[in-house]
Amino acid sequence: MCPTNNPKLTSWVDVSPECEFPIQNLPYGVFQLGDAPPAVGVAIGEFVLDLAALHASGKFSGTSIAADNIFAAASLNGFMGKGRQAWTDVRDRISELLRKNNATIRDDKELRQQVLIPSSDVRMLMPVAIGDFTDFYSSKHHATNVGTMFRDASNPLLPNWLHLPVGYHGRSGTVFVSGVDIHRPNGQLKPDDNAPPIFGPSRLLDFELEIGFIVGAPNEAGHRIEINQAAQHIFGMVLVNDWSARDIQKWEYVPLGPFLGKSFATSISPWVVTLDALEPFRVPSPVQEPDVLPYLKTAAPWGLDIRLEAFVQSAKMSEPMKLTSTNFKHMYWTIVQQLAHHTVNGTAMRVGDLCGSGTVSGPTEDARGCMLEICWKGTKPITLPDGDQRRFFADGDTVTLRGASHGEGYRIGFGEVSATILPAVS
Ligand code: MN
Repeated sequence: MCPTNNPKLTSWVDVSPECEFPIQNLPYGVFQLGDAPPAVGVAIGEFVLDLAALHASGKFSGTSIAADNIFAAASLNGFMGKGRQAWTDVRDRISELLRKNNATIRDDKELRQQVLIPSSDVRMLMPVAIGDFTDFYSSKHHATNVGTMFRDASNPLLPNWLHLPVGYHGRSGTVFVSGVDIHRPNGQLKPDDNAPPIFGPSRLLDFELEIGFIVGAPNEAGHRIEINQAAQHIFGMVLVNDWSARDIQKWEYVPLGPFLGKSFATSISPWVVTLDALEPFRVPSPVQEPDVLPYLKTAAPWGLDIRLEAFVQSAKMSEPMKLTSTNFKHMYWTIVQQLAHHTVNGTAMRVGDLCGSGTVSGPTEDARGCMLEICWKGTKPITLPDGDQRRFFADGDTVTLRGASHGEGYRIGFGEVSATILPAVS
């Protein structure tokens, strides 16, 4: 195991056992303190470690990123673009500086006040300048449920599904960070099968509980990323709420797939949890049968044990209600299979590309990752504590996703992605 992942490590920064940001995590984000320029930081306990200030104080000297202050930036792209060795060097150095027995920052009051900022004082911004956004459809439970509802319960998966990770190209320009509220989309709807379409606000606004990986190292056009190299290209992961207007989607999607029912908004969490931090939580993924083609085969286990939850809170509710709890380990297609497949035709991935997993649904009814499944196409509404019912979301509803890997005595958390639904713009 990599020393930075040692469960026994502790920090001189106070971190409670329930806190999602212990020294084993060290997720990266972009923050802003007042009117100061945005900077790259790392979450530790209830604080943000200001890497731009830390770099300016010379604490990255001797590493591969000593020359220019890539942390004095409004995105992680500059840092990610330095490549795998830089990611390792920086994680190693930060881990050292934060360890209980390291006096460098701990005993330097002036430096400590400069670089350690209470999380409650900062605003979190988009962590990544996202290049392209791809969304997969990699949960067999989700695909089976959707196929059962809309196609054929005895044959819910299309013939390609077990042979390749199905995906489509989404829209990066409407990926928003947690806290940015979302307008209900307008569009063409066809509530009556026997009448022409109408125009208006979506009536079937849904969420999709997903995790996305961020590409940190590019590949050259024409040259694929081989599956056993895929992890070298993945910087880290974020929570993704891939908002979906089911009525717009249902009418428009034939034959070219998702368009306006998906492109209006996707929300991501502000902290990027590195693949390095998730390393101890790799588990075998579900057995794939029939056997996959050789370019999708890997001997290494690439399932990830990440517990996921979704909550809703209407404008009238005083606290959120849980909608579902599931686990990323149920995903049929792994992140390395997704990246190997994505590039098998020679597609060039760029630094900052985001790949969503697709809705993460588990094997049980209480582990479904979207309202379409939870309320089974609107036939099983849920009742909120105030007595209101939901089949899909109403204006004023706040939807929050949370996720964490649980180790012994500590957890590697993603924080949250949360957004409130605003009325459609007329
Ligand atoms: Mn999706």
